Parts: sequence; C-alpha cells; structure tokens
Amino acid sequence: MDLRELLSHAVEICRESRTGLDRIVTHDTAAQTRVRGDAMRLTQVLWNLLRNAVKFTPEDGTVRVSLKSVASGTAGGDAVVIEVADNGIGIAAEDIGRIFDAFDQGNRTVTRQFGGLGLGLAISKAIVELHHGTLTAASAGRDMGATFTLTLPLFKGHAVSDLVLPACQPSSAPVATSAKPAGLRILLVEDHEDTREVMRQLLQRRGHVVLVARSVATALAVLEDGEPVDLLISDLGLPDGSGLDLMKSIRARLPLRAIALSGYGMEDDHRRSREAGFQEHLVKPVNFSDLLKAIDRLR
Ligand code: ADP
Repeated sequence: MDLRELLSHAVEICRESRTGLDRIVTHDTAAQTRVRGDAMRLTQVLWNLLRNAVKFTPEDGTVRVSLKSVASGTAGGDAVVIEVADNGIGIAAEDIGRIFDAFDQGNRTVTRQFGGLGLGLAISKAIVELHHGTLTAASAGRDMGATFTLTLPLFKGHAVSDLVLPACQPSSAPVATSAKPAGLRILLVEDHEDTREVMRQLLQRRGHVVLVARSVATALAVLEDGEPVDLLISDLGLPDGSGLDLMKSIRARLPLRAIALSGYGMEDDHRRSREAGFQEHLVKPVNFSDLLKAIDRLR
C-alpha cells in the first residue's frame, strides 16, 4: 500500500476533528512510499501519533508531520520514515523510557489532566514491529515538545494487481506488467436505488460482472442459487436487517471477500465490520477511487 495515502487520510481526519484544527503542518519529500502491511492497523498507528501530538500540544502550538524515504533506515534496507513532531508539553527524561509500556502514561499529573488509557503507544509499537519497522520517541524534556519517529521498510516488489501471470498470456505475448486485471463477479447489496445503479454501472465499466440485491434476503437467495461470486460489496443498513448479519451468515457457509459500505466510520464501526467478516470498511458517501483501491487490495 501507499503510506503517503494512509498518512494524508489520517491527517485529514485529524484536521476535521474538533481538536485537530489547522495546527498540523505536513512536509513530504519521500521519493517512494510503498510498504507492505495492514492498512487498517497502520492507520491506527498514524492516528494514535497524530491524536497524541494534538492532545499534548496547547491550542497555539504546532504539529509537524514529515514523510521521507531513506536509503538505509533502521529497518535495515530502504525505508520510509514518518516523523510527528509537536511543540507541546514534552516528556521528562525519566518518563520517556516507559511510555511504550502498556498502561504507562508517563507522569501522573499528565494522566489526570488529559485522560486516556496508556495503551495507544504500546499497541502502536507492537503493530509497527509486526511490520518489521520501528517506533521511537524523543523529547528534550518537559515543555520541550516531543517527536515520534515511525520507520517502515519500503516494499520494492510488484503489487499483486500489477502482475499478470505468464500462464494467463497467449504463449507469444510478452508478460504485461500493467495490464488491466480481469473482471470479478461482484454481488452488490444496496437498497438505495440511485446509489445501486450508479455503482453497478461504474463497476461494470471497469469490466466486472455485477449482480445486484436490495435486501439481506435477496442477497442470500442469489448465493443460495449457486451464483458464483468473487466479492461482496454491501451496504450495512438494509431494509430487512444489517449487512453485518448478512456477512456473518455468508461467512458461516463460504469464504467470501467483502467490502462494507457504511454511514459510520468510527474505530468501533470498523471493528464490527471486521469481526463480521468484512476485510474493508468504506464510509459513505463512498469515493469511487477508494472503492476501486479496496477491490484491488482484495483481488
Ligand atoms: P494515552 O494517550 O491513551 O494515555 P498512549 O500510549 O498513547 O496512551 O500514550 C502514553 C503516554 O505517553 C501519554 O499518557 C503521555 O504521557 C505520553 N505521550 C504520548 N504522546 C505524547 C506527546 N506527543 N507529547 C507528550 N507526551 C506524550
């Protein structure tokens, strides 16, 4: 995935949130930003760093977010580095060694003033390390601001969707690296007629075969009929039930990749979708290019 996209999305959310305001300044000099990993989890890390920076910086302070790629990062090979630097309350030297420990919140008075659980950084560090990266903190001391540095190894290979296996090509044809991927059979479950029509047409234009259903019952009937389906795209609020329940009952019968379309985008909403069996959760109004990217990630 493109870390630049994840970062700008997280910054956007932070700016839109009441407390984020316009105090976030970004500086992007990265030549390459592709990494391999779990977009949802890495977004959680970025979001945590940004939220902390905003939370621990006074109203008139600034949060500087920089993105760069380096030839040889701490992760060993080429790496992409995100730095989140604020000029807020900072971290005392005696606390900095502990802030990545679960339930640690540095200084007690800080905790009482700002709340929180002290889990964000512990979870973030674990996620980053599972991605073979590093997450470190630096501060010149109390009231001197803090800088968090996230380093992830760059992904140099081809994205799966860029590749066409040689076996799929006529024997004389050269192997294409940017050929349009083959269409999928998509079951689109959406009760709002205009939305359903627009999405159906757009997806068909991209070469997909689109089956449509406007309720949980019809969607299940289509699958029960034995229609082969590669991917489910489902609204969560349907007239006869929830897309989450639809997904749960499908998952009990067959493995199916799935994208949820929802009016809600809080962390809990993403989690519920994931637990029901959706791999992707897009918030309405759905941006079509985001939908295409989600489809590509699930191919
Ligand atoms: P939470 O913010 O929920 O308490 P975190 O694990 O995200 O938990 O952070 C742990 C502690 O690290 C915070 O309570 C705070 O003391 C310190 N901390 C994190 N980010 C910053 C920052 N940008 N500036 C100052 N202190 C920070």
